[in-house]
Amino acid sequence: MNIDEMKTEIGRLKKEKNAIILAHNYQLPEVQDIADFTGDSLELARKAASITEPVIVFCGVYFMAETAAILNPDKKVLIPDMQAGCPLADFATLKQVREWKKVYLDHVFVAYVNTHAETKAEIDICCTSGNAEKVINSIDSDKIVFLPDKNLGDYIRRKTGKPMVLWEGFCVVHEKADFDSIMEAKAMYPEALVMAHPECPRRVLDIADEVCSTGQMFGAVERHPEVRQFIVVTECGMVHALSKRFPDREFIAPEKQMRCANMKKITLPKVLDSLKYGQFEVKIDPVIAEKAKRSIVKMLEIK
Ligand code: SF4
Repeated sequence: MNIDEMKTEIGRLKKEKNAIILAHNYQLPEVQDIADFTGDSLELARKAASITEPVIVFCGVYFMAETAAILNPDKKVLIPDMQAGCPLADFATLKQVREWKKVYLDHVFVAYVNTHAETKAEIDICCTSGNAEKVINSIDSDKIVFLPDKNLGDYIRRKTGKPMVLWEGFCVVHEKADFDSIMEAKAMYPEALVMAHPECPRRVLDIADEVCSTGQMFGAVERHPEVRQFIVVTECGMVHALSKRFPDREFIAPEKQMRCANMKKITLPKVLDSLKYGQFEVKIDPVIAEKAKRSIVKMLEIK
């Protein structure tokens, strides 16, 4: 089957199974193109909370599909490849979180959504890169532990001025954002605006014009109608997502591209098989799911 035939078959199966396809902005271009809805973690979590279709095919990494399943316990949530994990989520194990809770007894624990369900079940509130500042500002305490991304935590700590204790985790893709490649791109495109994701290290964020989640990058482009070129410092899938929405602008990835191997595990043939065979269903212990849901819902309630 060629790509067009696969896309037609996916469309047919989607109707037959009454399914909806959600895809993260870091997915392969052809996967983004067959999705009913694309977005960042926050947008996908909000969308997942409002879905009416009985089957959700989640094109993203496992913790995202897990979040959709937690918010939709009566629906079938499928992920086309069970091996699409997130190394950042692996930084905060249940054992370590429990140990930290014994040390930081009177602290509010805030976890980035890039965590496993069992970790979400232990903490007080979740956040995404799109709402982390609002979530931290909503907390009526100066005793906060932020996990697992140290770069996002450092950025939010600087923005809010709150003395947060940071976990030592990082995204393996954003941590390697290459300072020299960005400077070269800036020299080559002197009129371009640099947009960087807050999972990047501080020295990269310090040379960015806009620090934003992938969802906020769309807003940043809209806010700058006079700018024609943008240097995009995040996972390379975002260049496709932005180019689709703004075909009259140019989006440039720094020469040393950032590519998440886990996001790219979801391919069209796997999406097709997922719909055809109902694979692979995300199942979570109901007790853990119920506890994890509290910290996700608390986050979604912050507008
Ligand atoms: S880009 Fe980073 S945070 Fe996102 S899924 Fe890949 S490893 Fe995890």
